[in-house]
Parts: sequence; structure tokens; C-alpha cells
Amino acid sequence: MKRTVIIDALKSTDFNSQINVKGWVRTRRGNKNVAFIALNDGSTIKNIQIVADLDKFSEESLKPITTGACLSVTGRLVESMGKGQTVEIQAEEIEIYGTADPETYPLQKKGHTLEYLRDIAHLRPRTNTFGAVFRIRHNMAMAIHTYFHEHGYFYFHTPLITASDCEGAGQMFQVTTKNLYNLKKDENGKIDYSDDFFGKQTSLTVSGQLEGELAAMALGKIYTFGPTFRAENSNTPRHLAEFWMIEPEVAFIQADELMDLEEDFLKYCVNWALEHCIDDLQFLNDMFDKTLIERLRSVVNTEFVRLPYTKGIEILEEAVRSGKQFEFPVYWGCDLASEHERYLVEEHFRKPVIMTDYPKEIKAFYMKLNADGKTVQGTDVLFPAIGEIIGGSVREENYDKLVAEIERRNIPMKDMWWYLDTRRFGAAPHAGFGLGFERLMLFVTGMQNIRDVIPFPRTPKTAEF
Ligand code: ATP
Ligand code: MG
Repeated sequence: MKRTVIIDALKSTDFNSQINVKGWVRTRRGNKNVAFIALNDGSTIKNIQIVADLDKFSEESLKPITTGACLSVTGRLVESMGKGQTVEIQAEEIEIYGTADPETYPLQKKGHTLEYLRDIAHLRPRTNTFGAVFRIRHNMAMAIHTYFHEHGYFYFHTPLITASDCEGAGQMFQVTTKNLYNLKKDENGKIDYSDDFFGKQTSLTVSGQLEGELAAMALGKIYTFGPTFRAENSNTPRHLAEFWMIEPEVAFIQADELMDLEEDFLKYCVNWALEHCIDDLQFLNDMFDKTLIERLRSVVNTEFVRLPYTKGIEILEEAVRSGKQFEFPVYWGCDLASEHERYLVEEHFRKPVIMTDYPKEIKAFYMKLNADGKTVQGTDVLFPAIGEIIGGSVREENYDKLVAEIERRNIPMKDMWWYLDTRRFGAAPHAGFGLGFERLMLFVTGMQNIRDVIPFPRTPKTAEF
């Protein structure tokens, strides 16, 4: 018989019809006369209840049906008397696909800590929490592609292996096929890469932006959505060594239009979650964070604050004068720490903030310089509970200014020739941003640790599974 997925079975009103469902046992309970099996197939957080009468099924045959076992159940769909559910299945035939020995199956029904579940990341998608998180993750990916597609952007694939090392100097992962036990070096003791796979030193990309800019100079509006890699040696709840980044790049827009895009896009994604994932959000709201849904709604409905960095520093200095204690000092020119960002967002404005016009010394070389000669047109979005969620900027399109900045920073020029060609041929004003997909996931799910919003997290000293 053809399988019905549980999300559809639960909506069906085709009572007394024959139905087949397949899934994994969450719990089994019962009495002398009847066994109740809660079955879940991942299509929804909700289980369907299977009722097995003991005059049809022997106690012996039900014994292997324990938490984690996989079943195919055929029976009659009936209206349920139980509270909180509308339908259940009166089982007629149960086939056991796979058992899960209660002595060794690590996911028993009691609540496990998130830390414990990280150690069994191969099984944690079977829990309610991670089922919810990964269904939401899929939906957020769909939201992102849909948003850009509907707004005329092209999905552009940038390489993961790169020979340029501009932004992330020092925190890139090298890619090599060289025998590390027997490294050929030149007379100065430098490694000779000429016999390496690509004939030069290569790494995993930290960002697709530079190639994204090339594409925007031809297709007008593009976005990338792919993995990026940073050998971040900081063990924080907001950094991964392998994370997914969304990077739109748009020709012919200025700072205010970039900020409009950042705000509109984030609101669209959060709203998508509210519209498509409400059962999963409700579960996370009830289990972990009673203000989650309220916080999501408030972001969709409030206008983001647009705040020049200099103003932000004034507010923070004022807070310090009024007795607010920060771990890191606040002064014009400092790179804001997450405690500063969160003070502005959570205590001062109580709204998302787009911070603009940063001192050029704390930002990347490609950002467009303001007329003051001191600040650049960065437009980072700061979110409650997260801090920086988006890093964006208008790009410097003037060849001479860009080259001067590259030289001032001693960035190896020969690797940048192809990037500079965008400014030599048909240069155009343009802007873009990078959103860490898992930062968005943290916000939308209310999870506290970035390791819990990606299936298999890569962080210092962990690359299991
Ligand atoms: P942070 O100050 O938090 O380290 P960043 O300034 O290094 O961020 P960008 O280089 O601007 O970040 O990258 C763009 C976006 O990518 C950030 O706004 C953030 O959402 C995300 N991001 C950056 N580094 C990481 C990481 N290690 N893990 C997950 N997401 C990240
Ligand atoms: Mg960083």
C-alpha cells in the first residue's frame, strides 16, 4: 500500500479508510488490552498515534516496538478521542523495519541536554528539537532563494578553492596535495608550491564577495549562497569554522538602498519562518524560549534604527558615564564588541540597528570612503540576542582610491589583478552584504549556540561525523 506522510495523515478526514504510514517510534505505552505507539516520520513535529489492540497483536510481537524502532503500519484511519489529536490509526498490520535496542539506543524518551546531543549528532535529527531546527533550516534556505529569485537576482556560484588571500589573512584553511612529511623548500626556506596541485598556494574561501562583485558587473544583481571556511580559533557560541553565507551584490545602488535591502530581506526571511514553520517555532518557544515568537514578530513589525558609528560611540560613552560597565573600552575608533552591539540593540533602542559609517581602520579595504576621509560606508545589521548578523558595505569603485588602499595595507597586488579589472573596465557604483546563514538560524530558532543550528558543526578540535 502507498505510504501517506504523517503530516498529511494528520490532516485527513477520510475516516475508516485504509492507510499506511512509516516512521520511527517515539514512545510506546499501554495496558493489558491495548498499546499506544507515537510514530514520527520527520514530516512534522507532530506524532501520529497508532492503536494496537492486544487481541490482534501478541504481547510478544509488540516487544521489539521500542523508542527508536522503525515501523510500517497499515490500518484504519479513525477519529481520535485522545486530547490534542484529531486522528489516529487502528493498526491491522505492523511490519518492523529496524529495531533499536533500549539497552544501547542513546535517545531514550527523557529530555537530553543539548551538549549531550552534540556528541551524538548522527542521531540528534531524530529528536523533536533538532527535527524542528532542521525543518526550519530548510525553510530558511527556501525563503532566501525565493526572495532573491522574486526580486530579479541570479544565483551565482563562486569557487570554494581560492588562490587569493585578501580579507581573511591568517585565518584560512590551506588546500594542498603536497606530502607534508617531505616538503620541498627553496633556498630561503620558503615552501615551493610549484609542484602542488594548482601550482600555487591555495585555500578554502572565506567569502565569495570578490567573485560576486565580478558577476554583479555583468548580471546586475546576483547572490551567492554557499559554504565558507574560517579557521577562527575563538571558541564562541556564534562562530563556526565551516558556515554558510549568503552574499548579494548589486550594481547601481547606494548606501540607503543597501540598507533597505538588508532590512527588507531579513524581515522577509523572519516572516517566512512565521508563516511556514509555526508548529516548529511553537515547540521551540514552549521548550526553550518563551519570548521567541514575540521577538520574531517584533522584528517583522519594527523599523530598524539607522545609526552612524560616531553616534553609537556617543551613546555608549554616555552609558559608561551613567555607570554601565563593559568589559572592553569604548572610544572612537574601537571595533565594537558584541557586548556593545547588544547594549545598543537590546537596552538602548530595543530594536534592530543598522550601523553605518565606520572608521576605515577597522573595516575591509574595499569599502567606499566617505568625504570626511576617515569613515567608510559599511552597513552592518545588529540584532537582538545575536549582535552582528549582516556585514555589508558600499564598495569603492574608484580604481585609484582602491589601489591606494590596497597598497597602504600591503595587500599582495599581483593576486588582485582580476578584481581590479572591475574598476578598470566599466566600473559602476555597487554594494552588497554577507549574512551568516547560521546567525540567521540562531535568531529564528532562538537557540543559544551556533553548534545547534547546523547538522554537523565544525569548530576547533571537532570535526566528528
Ligand atoms: P564577527 O565579527 O562576528 O566575527 P565578521 O566581521 O568576521 O563577523 P564578516 O566577515 O562581515 O563577519 O562576514 C559576514 C557575516 O558572516 C557576518 O555578519 C556573520 O553573520 C557571518 N559570520 C562571520 N564569521 C562567522 C563564523 N565564523 N561563523 C558563522 N558565521 C559567521
Ligand atoms: Mg570575524
